Amino acid sequence: MIEIKQVSKHFHLSKGRHIKALDQVSLEIHPNEILGLVGESGSGKSTLGKVLAGLHPKTMGSIKYKDETLPDNYSAKDFLRLSKEIQMIFQDPYSSLNPRMTVGEIIGEGLSLRKVAKKTIQEKVHAWLLKVGLHPDHASRFPHEFSGGQRQRIGIARALIVEPKFVICDEPISALDVSVQAQVIQLLQKLKNDFGLTLLFIAHDLSMVRHISDRITVLYLGQIMEIGPADQVFFHAKHPYTQKLNSSNPLPDPKREREQPTIQVDNSEIPSPSEILRGCPFASRCPHVSQICKTERPELKNIDNNHQVACHHLDKIN
Ligand code: ADP
Ligand code: MG
Repeated sequence: MIEIKQVSKHFHLSKGRHIKALDQVSLEIHPNEILGLVGESGSGKSTLGKVLAGLHPKTMGSIKYKDETLPDNYSAKDFLRLSKEIQMIFQDPYSSLNPRMTVGEIIGEGLSLRKVAKKTIQEKVHAWLLKVGLHPDHASRFPHEFSGGQRQRIGIARALIVEPKFVICDEPISALDVSVQAQVIQLLQKLKNDFGLTLLFIAHDLSMVRHISDRITVLYLGQIMEIGPADQVFFHAKHPYTQKLNSSNPLPDPKREREQPTIQVDNSEIPSPSEILRGCPFASRCPHVSQICKTERPELKNIDNNHQVACHHLDKIN
């Protein structure tokens, strides 16, 4: 469905410096799957989501959606056409909804931009309010009248009303109370099944995405460290970075504790993406580091069916 080849995104800073928020990322997203994307804050997860949604131009590489190569820079026309296929649901339901628009205007915006008749928009907005568990009367209210969970439902309705095929969910529950997180996840799963969606599901917590994902990609400082079937990446993580993500997870999981060796990781400062010039981005924190890690970037290698890892020392680790 999506083929990402060697995609990089550099942000320019002052004095000619730049950050490689994405550094030669290649991956495929299959029709109808949920691909989890995990990594600590600053790994480039949102940047990848925004590049895929056409919200950030990429610096290098190519992205194919179905059979079409996506443009580097979207024109307004490209955006109108492609945002009917690819939509994004944002992390923060408090800042991503325009406070001066009614909920009906927010949800219906994608349709009014496409010059859909007012009456049809109104009907669709009402139908979508019901689909996401809200009430048609809510259309005339403003975002501040709703709770975080309800606002995220509004954000979901806004994204899905144009009937996209591929939806990027950028940490859609991170800003919500624990008590409503599961409800929003269940809603997304139901809508995914009802509409045959393909999802890129971004999270910083591996244990959260593993339940809903078919496969998981682990990103660190703009590079893919590991990618594979969700249970493989969770229970049989091979990359020291993935193992670190697993071990810093506070939720007790007896099965995982039995199967997953815990490792000592250097918790020193995460290097800034502008500091990494070559080698493995995890080298400065990795317990298995050696000279080659500092000079040569490890390639993603197949270790199993559909399971790939970028590490020079797989032999040492498992
Ligand atoms: P994540 O979503 O995994 O937390 P982001 O994609 O937001 O990571 O950020 C990746 C890196 O790119 C970070 O170092 C961040 O500071 C930088 N970055 C993100 N957006 C911008 C921007 N608009 N301008 C400059 N740097 C940015
Ligand atoms: Mg983010």
